Amino acid sequence: MADSETADAVVVGAGMAGLVAGLELAESGADVTVLEKAPTPGGSMRISNGIVWTYGSFEELRERSPDGEPALQRLLVDRIEDDLAWLESVEADLVTPEFDVPGPGKTIDPPAFTDHMVERIEAAGGSVRLEMPLDSLAVEDGTVVGVEATGPDGKRVTIDADAVVVATGGFQGNEQLVEQHVTDATENLYLRSNPWSTGDGLLAATEVGGKTTAGLGTFYGHTMAAPPADISPDRFADATQYYGFAAVALDRTGERFTDESESALEETLTQDIATETDGRAYYVFDETIADRVFGSKTADEIFETAGELGGRTALVDSLSELGATLDEWGVDGDRAIETVEAFNDAIEGDERLHPSRENERIPIDEPPYRLVEVQPSITFTMGGVAVDESMAVKRRSASPSGMAIGADDAADGTVEGLFAAGSDVGAIHRRRYVGGLAVGLVSGRIAARSALERIGNA
Ligand SMILES: Cc1cc2nc3c(=O)[nH]c(=O)nc-3n(C[C@H](O)[C@H](O)[C@H](O)COP(=O)(O)OP(=O)(O)OC[C@H]3O[C@@H](n4cnc5c(N)ncnc54)[C@H](O)[C@@H]3O)c2cc1C
Repeated sequence: MADSETADAVVVGAGMAGLVAGLELAESGADVTVLEKAPTPGGSMRISNGIVWTYGSFEELRERSPDGEPALQRLLVDRIEDDLAWLESVEADLVTPEFDVPGPGKTIDPPAFTDHMVERIEAAGGSVRLEMPLDSLAVEDGTVVGVEATGPDGKRVTIDADAVVVATGGFQGNEQLVEQHVTDATENLYLRSNPWSTGDGLLAATEVGGKTTAGLGTFYGHTMAAPPADISPDRFADATQYYGFAAVALDRTGERFTDESESALEETLTQDIATETDGRAYYVFDETIADRVFGSKTADEIFETAGELGGRTALVDSLSELGATLDEWGVDGDRAIETVEAFNDAIEGDERLHPSRENERIPIDEPPYRLVEVQPSITFTMGGVAVDESMAVKRRSASPSGMAIGADDAADGTVEGLFAAGSDVGAIHRRRYVGGLAVGLVSGRIAARSALERIGNA
């Protein structure tokens, strides 16, 4: 028989969004249980660079990420300053990011921040339960009334609660869902994330009638040196080819396949490599950007690390040498030389390119050339659970038809008692990234306040 417990609220996931929601609930006097599937808390936040940032205005954010859900994006920019101030009041050791971010930002030390958040939640009377995954949501008459989970000893536990917040970090770790929505070549996609975010929040929410957003196939990620490179999670940040948007990216035919510069964090290029190539690309850059800093490292430092990690890299003095190296790697080297020359001619002649190149219009003509074989990686999925502005999970209708097809066909409304936060929330980002930790912070606090209101009314 399952053990039975009660709480005011259950938060599922102890990563960025879950810890923020848990603390807000605990320090507001709610009896909160935070469930965590992993043996350690922190999720992807714990292995992140810790820069909590987003864009400075709604207009700028829309320009950078025009396909996301506008109402949620507006919430993000409207609340970020207040929420960073809250973060600062919680964790005094925040520093201003050491490199430029396009709007407000602060840097956390992820492992120390994680430990500190857990301590504070527990000091306020809440609990963070490790190795205790959510299995399903408990529902009565369409209302979420708690969760079913498995404890570390394998024992089933039911927790009755007035409000549940799912913050399980997206579905990037679920091979079947990634294959269904992102790419069927999942073997060519690294997981650059915690391994426990397997869509449990999304699956549980849809199981009880929750709706999903558009854009389930879009994701945030980067490229890293392709296998045989061996990259452990503590090297994900070092292995990331942050300069990609300023390079020329070739596929195995030696041709460009997209505008590398569409987004300044490489996320659109990464998605295009995953969906428009066989999961490999070849980045070429030259002396002009070798010393330029991307994130906290120069392009050359990143290039050297790719080699140290066992990836295929080459430093060559001429385009003909570049072509010969690519031939050895199974790429059409002659075509690659033509592509780089055509790229340079078009940039110098200020002509359009196909595929286009809107930004970073700098020729690649200052040898030695650097060449890196890269593979895309997925950090989190951008599509997910549909929520309203209180982070309440929207209910899906049984049919998009105007004709009601059954008594449960409530086209509008939300799933009572259920909220989502962080990467489980869909469509704040869609194709273009707006800051993952900031989304966790802002949505986590909103979800907690909405849960508090529900607890107060229960
Ligand atoms: C290398 C790297 C660098 C990054 N750098 C930055 C950066 O500098 N700035 C930035 O904004 N973003 C960065 N990110 C992205 C950022 O880490 C994520 O956007 C953020 O952590 C998302 O927060 P979250 O709470 O949604 O998910 P997470 O932080 O991943 O937390 C989700 C948690 O849910 C748990 N969970 C999953 N399923 C269950 C279940 N069934 N029951 C209970 N618990 C469950 C997971 O174990 C995990 O602990 C980086 C990511 C990586 C990998």
